[in-house]
Amino acid sequence: MVVKQELLYQGKAKKLFKTEDPATLLVEYLDQATALNGARKDEIAGKAALNNQITALIFERLNEKGINSHFIKKMSKNEQLVERLKIFPLEVVVRNYSAGSFAKRLGFDEGVPLAFPVLEFYFKDDHLDDPFINEDHIKILKLADEKEVAEIKKQANAINQALIELFKEIGIRLIDFKIELGKRADGTILLADEITPDTCRLWDEQTNEHLDKDVYRRNLGELVPVYQEVLERLTKKN
Ligand code: ADP
Ligand code: UDP
Repeated sequence: MVVKQELLYQGKAKKLFKTEDPATLLVEYLDQATALNGARKDEIAGKAALNNQITALIFERLNEKGINSHFIKKMSKNEQLVERLKIFPLEVVVRNYSAGSFAKRLGFDEGVPLAFPVLEFYFKDDHLDDPFINEDHIKILKLADEKEVAEIKKQANAINQALIELFKEIGIRLIDFKIELGKRADGTILLADEITPDTCRLWDEQTNEHLDKDVYRRNLGELVPVYQEVLERLTKKN
């Protein structure tokens, strides 16, 4: 039995609760969407259940493809049990097509295929607005050592290949995504946090319709039906 104990952390999209087992956490997804590092915030009924289901399904699929993660099991509509890890304070972004900040910063149109997957690191620090950093910055700030960075890059690339395949099967082009990784006490590095339309750019292969959080960020329409569509496509594949 899993006993939900005290609140450990309240984030922008999720709450983390301790359980009776110090090795696990209960993650509660929230009916909340934010943009601009929390400056814009809206209550969106149904988002929590959708993201909880989507990320659970994706972590299960990745596991079938040999990629391990913190995910243990879905506990309720809005909650899942995960392995508690020491999260690297890094947002690891992988890009297959130009979009978002990459397109803006480097003067690309959006949707241009990139010759190889481009990997970026951001320092997870809300006070600094999650700045773009490089491997020297990671070293200077002691966010991860060289071997860990190499392992993070290796896993990010493998996760990218697996996700490209998984989404291609359901008519979706994986433009880019953000992941977080963490460490077990024995040093093993594992995929953590979430993989949802909040953290990926997903474009319909035929129409280029945005099936991700850009509908909210850019006021393109309703978020819930779009996330529902992603969930339905993932479920039909089962
Ligand atoms: P934010 O912190 O950006 O507001 P969330 O609302 O998604 O984001 O909060 C979830 C928090 O949980 C993040 O800080 C993330 O690093 C952390 N986290 C995710 N998975 C784990 C895990 N397995 N162990 C410990 N912390 C985790
Ligand atoms: N991303 C995320 N959390 C963040 C910032 C970005 O999940 O705090 C994801 C975003 O959904 C996209 C990818 O990372 O899939 C790249 O985002 P980008 O750097 O283009 O940032 P944005 O245009 O959202 O500012």
